[in-house]
Amino acid sequence: MQIQETREVACPKCGENSSVPVPEQDVELKVSPYVAAFGEHTEIECSNEHSFWVYYC
Ligand SMILES: [Zn+2]
Repeated sequence: MQIQETREVACPKCGENSSVPVPEQDVELKVSPYVAAFGEHTEIECSNEHSFWVYYC
């Protein structure tokens, strides 16, 4: 069984922390307020209902 890690990232709009699942331990997370057509990413919604995207670098 694979254990999925999570990390806290701050929302770019309000600074609220949200948990993001990370696929690998040493991956870099890059927060973006808009979607871009490259790389592995996930869409996150903070507790204030802002959507943003997190890229795995
Ligand atoms: Zn927010």
